[in-house]
Amino acid sequence: MKRPILIHPDPRLKKVCDPVADLSDDLRNLADDMLETMYDAPGIGLAAPQIGVLHRLIVLDCVKEDEGPARPLVMFNPEIVASSDELNVYEEGCLSIPDQYAEVTRPKQVQVNWLDRDGKEHSEEFDGLWATCVQHEIDHLNGKLFIDYLKPLKRQMITRKMQKLKRERARA
Ligand SMILES: [Zn+2]
Repeated sequence: MKRPILIHPDPRLKKVCDPVADLSDDLRNLADDMLETMYDAPGIGLAAPQIGVLHRLIVLDCVKEDEGPARPLVMFNPEIVASSDELNVYEEGCLSIPDQYAEVTRPKQVQVNWLDRDGKEHSEEFDGLWATCVQHEIDHLNGKLFIDYLKPLKRQMITRKMQKLKRERARA
């Protein structure tokens, strides 16, 4: 089932989310809903707070359609345990900040630990777009958005555009 995506600014997008203690069927269903919502948007990553659920859960799939089979990843309690000194710049966007893009600098590689939908532990090194995406999504779990990396003026400009978009949507 598709879920509505919250649009910035929203207090739920600024919260530090709680770790998941026990994996339940409800949480597995939530992860499936998030993947469906992400693919439909379309996007390459989605974090639970973006649909108003304040748990440490993200989903992502950075395989482009013409590049091969999909690789949907469900990560409960994802944690960055190591980051490269080498940096990478990507033009980032966010499903909670539609149609706004800006360059963000982040570590080029990160090692991430997480639990999958069956509660199995994983650890993997991500590079390039995958590394950027997983860092962007984990930021969401700490109440941080990609626009928080931008200069205040640019951030305020984007926030005002989003406030206007929300007013327009509320009227429609
Ligand atoms: Zn985002």
